[in-house]
Amino acid sequence: MSASTNMGHVTSFEVWEIETARRQFKDYYRGMPTECPCGRMVAPCQPYRCLYCDIWFCEDCAGEHFGETKAAFLERKAKECQ
Ligand SMILES: [Zn+2]
Ligand SMILES: [Zn+2]
Repeated sequence: MSASTNMGHVTSFEVWEIETARRQFKDYYRGMPTECPCGRMVAPCQPYRCLYCDIWFCEDCAGEHFGETKAAFLERKAKECQ
């Protein structure tokens, strides 16, 4: 695979995002722990993946990234289902 020169204008954040997602997917696919952008290793059953960025996060970073902690999400869902 050669480096694509056909990507148009890509910001360094987008490059980082694509490379991070690609590296994480390889780890995840092999059933290996992968690295959250914060540097913490996350086990294959633990990471939370963003639908938009395709990046896996540890639970703390996911709460920050999604703007809601897992506990807050579960509480909100429980209320909605009553
Ligand atoms: Zn995201
Ligand atoms: Zn993290």
